[in-house]
Formats: sequence, structure tokens, C-alpha cells
Amino acid sequence: AGRLKDKIAVVTAAGQGIGRAIAEQFLAEGAVVYASDIDLDKLADLQGARAARLDVLSTDAVEAYARDTGHIDILVNVAGFVHHGTVLSTSDKDWDFSFDLNVKSMHRTIKAFLPGMLERAKETGKTCSIVNISSGASSIRGIPNRYAYGASKAAVIGLTKSVAADFIRDGIRCNAVAPGTFKSPSWEERVETLGKEWGSKEKALEMFVQRQPTGRVADAAEIAPIAVYLASDEAAFTTGTVMAVDGGFSL
Ligand code: NAD
Repeated sequence: AGRLKDKIAVVTAAGQGIGRAIAEQFLAEGAVVYASDIDLDKLADLQGARAARLDVLSTDAVEAYARDTGHIDILVNVAGFVHHGTVLSTSDKDWDFSFDLNVKSMHRTIKAFLPGMLERAKETGKTCSIVNISSGASSIRGIPNRYAYGASKAAVIGLTKSVAADFIRDGIRCNAVAPGTFKSPSWEERVETLGKEWGSKEKALEMFVQRQPTGRVADAAEIAPIAVYLASDEAAFTTGTVMAVDGGFSL
């Protein structure tokens, strides 16, 4: 405990899944946590966090939220959506939505919070940290039916490295996390949907498990510690990296 003492953190999509696990572990490590989600109800039982509704698709809402929050040390961009399909079944609308939610949302939050983070780094003499949730399905691996998703998560890695390069001398670190498959409400839905399509939920589940050389999918709580590390001063020398926590998905 105490690894994030005196740190102020913002976590998007903290209502469930990895965002929730990160918010909980940040709180346990002593951070002040501004937890946001498009669905405020999902934050109701997150004890100790400062909860707010935030739709990361809205530039105005993100800017207003950043003004209300003030200077922060840590920004974790979690919000994302998994589109299922190949290039042939992906409409322009699907493509645009994936890029809007998975990538442009990070452009919005970073643009809005970075000026305050630059100030904060000067005030504290410590580095501030941006953590972006990418995926193993990205520039790391091509995965069937993850066309728009994989492209958007590859873009997250490019965005991450660009921000890292631009502000490396200004006390800002920016890193990406590339998880393998972990259990979350949206993942459960993907298993259900594919199970219906294939006529067997077990078969769908088996496909997800087979992609992981570990032979199992993770719990979100097993991925979140890398965000704690990247957010903490322990990672002061780490920027522009992509950290795989993936049960061998990238092997
Ligand atoms: P999830 O998909 O179950 O939950 C997503 C959360 O995002 C929900 O609480 C939802 O209300 C919120 N949200 C949706 N639209 C939003 C918006 N416009 N603004 C703010 N919040 C919004 O959670 P998850 O599976 O942990 O996924 C979170 C991130 O992790 C995503 O970026 C996803 O791509 C990534 N990821 C997931 C896996 C996995 O196996 N689950 C693997 C690699 C990467």
C-alpha cells in the first residue's frame, strides 16, 4: 500500500472490467481517484472514488471535466469497444466509431489534461504518467474478426509513443498496456454472442482460451498491477513502452 500516495489519478471507463480493477488498485495504493464512466450507476459501489459521468466521445464534456478536476498526476485511458468483423463486414460507421471511442477519446483526454499535468510535474518535481489501454490485438498480433479493433489499438500504440517522445523532457511519461484476454462484462457478452453464432458457448470459450498459451483467460485484477506500476514513481525511467500482460498471447 502507499505506492500512489499523494497522486491524483483520472481513470476513464472505471465502471467495470479493467477500468474498475485499476481504480480499485489505485485507491488501495493511496491515490485520489477521479473515476468516470458513461454510465454513472456502474460507479455507485466504488468506495472512496470521486465518481462522475463522462462520455469520452464528447470533446466538450472532456474539456469541462478536465477543468473541474484540475491538475492531476495520472491519466488512465481505458474506454474502448471491441468490434467483431473483417474488412468486408466493417462499415464506415463501424470504423469511425471504433476510432472515435478507442483512439480519438485518448487524443481528447490527453489534450485536455496534459497542460495541468505539465504544471503538476513542475510543482512536484516528479513525473506524471499517462497509461493507455491498447491490446495484444493491435500492431502486435493480427486476430481474426478484429479488423477495426486491431487497427484502432495499433493506433493507440502510435499515439502513445508520439506523446512520450514529445514530452519526455517535460516530466511526462506515456505508456501503453497490451493485455491478453481477461474476463469482463463485455467479454462475457462476446462469448455469448459467438456461442450463439457457433451453436455452442463452450466452443466460443475454447477459442478464447486457446489463444492464450497459459490455457486460461485472466481476471482484470491480474492486468491492473501493470497500471499501478506505470503510474507510480517506480516507473520514473519508463516511457514510450508497450507492456504486454497477456498470458503468452504475443508469443
Ligand atoms: P468493458 O468493455 O466490459 O467495459 C467498458 C466500460 O466502458 C463500461 O463500463 C462502459 O460503460 C464504458 N464506456 C463505454 N462507452 C464509453 C464512453 N463513450 N465514455 C466513457 N465510458 C464508456 O471493459 P473491458 O473489457 O475491461 O475493456 C476495457 C478496455 O480494455 C477496452 O479499451 C478494451 O478494448 C481493452 N481490452 C480488453 C480486453 C479483454 O479481454 N476484456 C483485452 C485487451 C484490451
